[in-house]
Amino acid sequence: MKVILADTYGFCGGVKKAVNLIYSQLNECEGTNILMEGPIIHNNSIIKDLDSKGVKLLGDNKDLKNKKIVVRAHGITPQKEVQIKNWGGEIVDGTCPIVKASQLKIKKYAQDGYFIVITGDIGHAEVIGLVGYAPESSVVVASTQDLQNKHFPPKTVLISQTTFSKPEFYKIEKELKDICPTLETLCTICSATKDRQDSVKRLADEVDAIIVVGGINSSNTKRLKLAVEDKVPTWLIEDSSEIPKEISKYKTVGVTAGASTPDFIINQVVTALELLPNRDKE
Ligand code: SF4
Repeated sequence: MKVILADTYGFCGGVKKAVNLIYSQLNECEGTNILMEGPIIHNNSIIKDLDSKGVKLLGDNKDLKNKKIVVRAHGITPQKEVQIKNWGGEIVDGTCPIVKASQLKIKKYAQDGYFIVITGDIGHAEVIGLVGYAPESSVVVASTQDLQNKHFPPKTVLISQTTFSKPEFYKIEKELKDICPTLETLCTICSATKDRQDSVKRLADEVDAIIVVGGINSSNTKRLKLAVEDKVPTWLIEDSSEIPKEISKYKTVGVTAGASTPDFIINQVVTALELLPNRDKE
């Protein structure tokens, strides 16, 4: 089988930084003294490796004396930071600098009396963190439907989860401007996401099918699949053991990967696909 890799795929700068941070902490102390505020990465093999080294999730743990709490790239709320410190924990901040910048913008706008509309997936860790910077004066919207029957003050600003879809963001902006003509907009969507989405769209023009490699709970990975599944048959898999049987029907297969997928998993998928017999599409 012919396999073509997307020109941009895999680890983004923020995830790379957070993963490196936790492994550098392991050089300084026992894994049993390190807790992750949430899974550092949406990748089972790395989570299993950390688990084998003693690194667990923070969960409901309240006895945090002598513990280092590693914050993942998504960031956390300032309220949670205070809570961790009150329980005796030391924060090791792996928040992506791009997410941190969004948090600080929300804080500043809230202090200046703005109402903040955050486009994003309700319940996503980054979004929860962002809301924490303006808990009394913000709302999360996932689509234009969420704007129905809502009123917004003249001082309203629109900001986004970094991995949100750009077309959806501008659709929401357009409708919101009809409701609130004085709306200010800050597009805080990270280019790492867009670069991977644009790349997989280009790839779809060259191949018969696409495999997206990444965590099934990873928002940016799911969006990669969404970006091309209308064009070519597309599967989202976590590793080479999940390569679908039907893929052998296709002559040329494209591969891309979410921002939290390590290279070794992508390479295993590519190698496994290349070993499949090269058949014409049925
Ligand atoms: S996708 Fe962008 S904002 Fe999110 S962690 Fe990666 S670099 Fe940071």
